[in-house]
Amino acid sequence: MEFNEVYCSNCKKVLGQYNLKFYDDEKIKELVSITYSSHVRNGHLVNVRRFVKD
Ligand SMILES: [Zn+2]
Repeated sequence: MEFNEVYCSNCKKVLGQYNLKFYDDEKIKELVSITYSSHVRNGHLVNVRRFVKD
């Protein structure tokens, strides 16, 4: 299965992992801006990376 992982470079931690089947790129962008708005507001660099897990 493919996952999108939301990672904050400033906090140096994974904020969440989302199955690509349920969260496409558009949804992830939306989710990041809403769910992790405090990081974004603080100027944190929130990245989305893709990885595969069985
Ligand atoms: Zn952060």
